[in-house]
Amino acid sequence: EKFKRGLEKTRDSFAGKVNDLIARYRKVDEEFFEELEEILIASDVGVATVMEFIDELKMEVKRRNIQDPKDMYSVISEKLIDIYQAGGDEKIELNIQPSGLTVILFVGVNGVGKTTTIGKLAHKLKNEGKTVMLAAGDTFRAGAIEQLEVWGERVGVEVIKQSAGSDPAAVMYDAIQAAKSRNVDVLLCDTAGRLQNKVNLMKELEKVRRVIEREVPGAPHEVLLVLDATTGQNAMSQAKTFKEATNVTGIVLTKLDGTAKGGIVLAIRHELNIPVKFVGLGEKVDDLEPFNAEQFVYGLFA
Ligand code: GDP
Repeated sequence: EKFKRGLEKTRDSFAGKVNDLIARYRKVDEEFFEELEEILIASDVGVATVMEFIDELKMEVKRRNIQDPKDMYSVISEKLIDIYQAGGDEKIELNIQPSGLTVILFVGVNGVGKTTTIGKLAHKLKNEGKTVMLAAGDTFRAGAIEQLEVWGERVGVEVIKQSAGSDPAAVMYDAIQAAKSRNVDVLLCDTAGRLQNKVNLMKELEKVRRVIEREVPGAPHEVLLVLDATTGQNAMSQAKTFKEATNVTGIVLTKLDGTAKGGIVLAIRHELNIPVKFVGLGEKVDDLEPFNAEQFVYGLFA
């Protein structure tokens, strides 16, 4: 239900248009496909993904000899799920180690909801019985450390920090030592998100990674890229930059509740080959849900 509620805007817009399309046509013809194509592009599904989707859809319609537009609901849903899953193996579950310290690194530009997501995930993991600690690795943005502390207090987990402007790699080192000595299960690490200087971003991420890799064998166990769904194709270009800068293992797509263009989920998965692990569906601590393509697509028409 939370999923459905969070998708309201996209559902109203996307399903509204598809319902209207299906009501207006008496048979599934070339024009029908053209209109559907426009609806998908307007929902931020992404041109390349849409083209492939429409081709597949046409083949399926032909194969099943579908003529009545009303029969298109199920085919559209099935093919949308297919196009998402064609992106690769589904590994939605976080790679949490059965024993020892798990380190999860968060990357993404400022304002996308990184801090909020870290807070929400800390809460979720804590509810699952894990001990959690946060590392204030964004030492660059004014207020970032304090904001993480607010979340730490709110969900009742410790935050390891240094002063603003200090070396993020040093913060990570401290945090890892603290996490080990307190037998913490999961360390969630914030990082700075300035994209203006790609070389610096890469260098900083590399340095942070090196410390983590050295101090915890096998870590980081996840590198989660946080993207803001309301920024559409901009989110896509951020994803490409971060993918070049570091090995991203999953995406958290925030503010899905704030956009009518939720189709970006499909585009991101399909064009980048990185699984969407969580979606942000609001500003509250509970508004983080594991992503599920079937729930998402069926939720659009429900
Ligand atoms: P950061 O700069 O990336 O750390 O971003 P913040 O965590 O400070 O979030 C920026 C703003 O986005 C805040 O006002 C958050 O409440 C809001 N926000 C974060 N995630 C979501 C979400 O899933 N839905 C909505 N509606 N707002 C969100």
